[in-house]
Amino acid sequence: MSKIEFEFAPLNIHPREEWGSLNIESGYSQHEIKYVTLHHSGVVYKGDKPTPEHLRNLQNWSRSERPWPDIPYHFLIDLQGEIWEGRPLQYKGDTYTEYDPTSHALISVLGNYEEQEISPGQLESIADLMAALCKTFSVNPDEIRSHKDYVPSTLCPGKNLYAHLQNGSLIAEVKKRLR
Ligand SMILES: [Zn+2]
Repeated sequence: MSKIEFEFAPLNIHPREEWGSLNIESGYSQHEIKYVTLHHSGVVYKGDKPTPEHLRNLQNWSRSERPWPDIPYHFLIDLQGEIWEGRPLQYKGDTYTEYDPTSHALISVLGNYEEQEISPGQLESIADLMAALCKTFSVNPDEIRSHKDYVPSTLCPGKNLYAHLQNGSLIAEVKKRLR
């Protein structure tokens, strides 16, 4: 496991090589991070496949079933709360809905949190990652949003995860880490 040195808290992030990502060199657009946005992957996932295999499947699906060069999200959080590198952060993410993900750092939790429960360990990792992104890119934690906040018609990131944004508890955890 290699470390991406965020200015604030070095986080253990599993790099792309660790899950067997393809080497992708084209189809990306560059951007600069100004926002942090929370998603879920939207498909019920209970760990039937190991995370690396799940990520390889997501990458293949993104390239075959969607017109995308890569996984649309920059970071993926698995069922154990481990953080995995998705699309490299310097490249704009992708969406199939009506908002422009340019300048958004996209965090996605693997699973469907309309139906699954989010664990304390996953919430810890989300807060750690959000805090590091806020610190590194000077994003105000009060401006962290979820997909649903930009596109009211989507269920993403699922009500069981969204509840923690809505009641302010997740942002409070982010702020605690920034103090
Ligand atoms: Zn989403």
